[in-house]
Amino acid sequence: MALLYLAAQAAIANAASTGIKTNATYGKLPLSFEANQGQIDPNAKFLARGAGYSLFLTDTGAVLAFSGTAQRKKVLQENGGKCTVGGCNKPAEHVDHAIPRSQNGDTTDANLQGMCAHHNCQKGARSSAEYEKWLKENGQK
Ligand SMILES: [Zn+2]
Repeated sequence: MALLYLAAQAAIANAASTGIKTNATYGKLPLSFEANQGQIDPNAKFLARGAGYSLFLTDTGAVLAFSGTAQRKKVLQENGGKCTVGGCNKPAEHVDHAIPRSQNGDTTDANLQGMCAHHNCQKGARSSAEYEKWLKENGQK
């Protein structure tokens, strides 16, 4: 997962060295990663926190969790405020894309669902269908 961060830094450096103009403030974003040492769900290996969002890097991808929007609050209140993974009774803390952005999932209400931090980090960049299949194959809930 550190490779993702390094790749992003390399892309920024490459853009700068080839003369491509980048947003002057982009390089000044206060984004830094910290290793997960038990402060969050163990599926996340690294995390970064920013104004209104948290970014979690897992074994299967990156999970971006926003906070504070009306849409987020609405999605988290659906399903009785509980995680949408079957059998999980934990509070929904993260808004997840059922079809991830990496698979061209959109951010409409129909594609968003509330999940507990554990299940959202474990799901990573998989679609809900892929994740449910993985859960069954691995005997997990
Ligand atoms: Zn859950």
